[in-house]
Amino acid sequence: MSRVMNFNAGPAALPLPALERARDEMLDFAKSGMSVMEHSHRGKEYEAVHDEAIALLRSLLGVPDDYEVLFVQGGASQLFAQIPMNLVQKGGSADYVVTGAWSEKALSEAKAAAAMLGGGVKVACSTGTGDGKEKSYVRCPLPAEVKADPQAAYLHVTSNETIHGVQFEVEPSRPFPAAPVPLVVDMSSDFLWRKVDVRRFGLLYAGAQKNIGPSGVVVVVVQKALVEKGRKDIPKIFQLRTPAENKSLYNTPPTFGIYMVRNVLSWLQGLGGLGKMEEMNRQKARRLYGAIDKNPGYFRCPVEKESRSLMNVVFRLPAEADEERFVKEAKAKGMVGLKGHRSVGGIRVSTYNAVLPEWVDALASFMEDFARKG
Ligand code: PMP
Repeated sequence: MSRVMNFNAGPAALPLPALERARDEMLDFAKSGMSVMEHSHRGKEYEAVHDEAIALLRSLLGVPDDYEVLFVQGGASQLFAQIPMNLVQKGGSADYVVTGAWSEKALSEAKAAAAMLGGGVKVACSTGTGDGKEKSYVRCPLPAEVKADPQAAYLHVTSNETIHGVQFEVEPSRPFPAAPVPLVVDMSSDFLWRKVDVRRFGLLYAGAQKNIGPSGVVVVVVQKALVEKGRKDIPKIFQLRTPAENKSLYNTPPTFGIYMVRNVLSWLQGLGGLGKMEEMNRQKARRLYGAIDKNPGYFRCPVEKESRSLMNVVFRLPAEADEERFVKEAKAKGMVGLKGHRSVGGIRVSTYNAVLPEWVDALASFMEDFARKG
């Protein structure tokens, strides 16, 4: 078996011990004579996995008792619509900070959902410049740039723009905006790699397929008071109180996905938790940005230094032909998933939790060599 160095943006690399555990438990889970996938979601074998995944999330993230931890399906994309459906009242509105492609999508879905239910959505700040194909996002706003309405239901922020490589709170000068209303954060590509104070947020959500598991599971951490305020005139399946009141077992959850989340979180805890993970991830990012900055005539990171993502490192080479050659030669050396998103081009290196420091080291050395040869 030869496994590659996987820099995919999501679905992304999973920790080998979590996969090996799944392999070992695949045919006979907990001496039950069947795999975890074949168990009823109401049986005690699956329930133990479900409870452990929630307990691990609570302890790793330090989730306070007045917050729910929920598993939802439909991807983070479903939450783009589901959050305004729950929280924007008739005649009410919500505010959005736009820092890249994913916050643009969140805004657009919120507009449609709120309009359908008699509410509205406003842009509290956008850092985009240019139009159409030329549109670019290269930074997070300073707190003073965000004009949040104190009457809004919430302020929505995308903490890490997976495509544009722009991340909040990497430097102290670019904190999450201090909103007068609950802060709602899409943490899909920014989840569980560093400690955050959950109390700063009304709701945070993340698709699992970057840092904590396979696709098909979304984690929502939400203040109980916000869940209670949610609208009751929308279908039950979209109300956040439905998973909250049913321990995320109202209908059949993605049991194998949640089982894999359990395996990944258990690995993360064994490694030393978020403190250790943050140290490793900062070191990986330093190595990559170091290779870029040491070769300014060859590599160019479009993102302003204060907003450079530690999870998705994006950069350009002198010409598209060089980028194609870079991706091809890297692949020949066992490094895959380096092509930038089709909407922006260039190179993107995703360095989530399961990406090993030695892979990053190998890639950075390859970059330095590549630049030297030209
Ligand atoms: N938000 C962000 C920041 C993302 O990176 C993604 C997926 N790449 C999404 C939302 C959408 O996630 P999903 O495909 O799970 O709907």
